[in-house]
Amino acid sequence: MCITPKLTQMAHLFPALKYAFDALEPHIDAFTMETHYYKHHQTTVDNLNKALAGTDGEILSLQELLANVSKYPAARNSAGSHYNHSQYWEILSPDGGGEPTGALAEAIDSCFGSFDAMKEKMNAAGLARFGSGWAWLIVKDGKLDVCSTPNQDNPLMDIAEVKGTPILGIDVWEHAYYIKYQNRRPDYLQAIWNVINWDVVAGKFEAAVQ
Ligand code: MN
Repeated sequence: MCITPKLTQMAHLFPALKYAFDALEPHIDAFTMETHYYKHHQTTVDNLNKALAGTDGEILSLQELLANVSKYPAARNSAGSHYNHSQYWEILSPDGGGEPTGALAEAIDSCFGSFDAMKEKMNAAGLARFGSGWAWLIVKDGKLDVCSTPNQDNPLMDIAEVKGTPILGIDVWEHAYYIKYQNRRPDYLQAIWNVINWDVVAGKFEAAVQ
């Protein structure tokens, strides 16, 4: 007799935050972080698992799901939100800020002219996104580029207007900044560069250009 194991259900897991809610003060306030993490992100992980339950999407990794999200419209917002927020917590750090070095710094200079020019392009993408969405620094065809997506979409989705591998994604939904900055999205976009973890971004860059 042969016992065939059932396909393992790959429930998507809510990731741990590696720093305290107040660790990014004064740039991002503790209440915003706590609400964002528990109320927004955790809810979408629960919704993602519910949306996939009993479908063939249940066995896909998050990356596979995003690459085929047009086939799973019920999971589009929650899958995007799970990926987007997981990388957002990761690319932020109380020890962040400054500028990258090494291969990433060279690629930024070669693709944008300078670090400040890249920052301006990212901030402009975040400001130009009407309503809710994300600004992205991506690797596309081996080069860096900047784009933005609406709602919880991202450049890994098969439906994305601009596709690429994200190495840095900034949340420009009001829930990411409104408590501290109210309508001043430009101030939030200026401040967030003080807490970007360039070691993590450089790691994502190196993996994407391999
Ligand atoms: Mn968010």
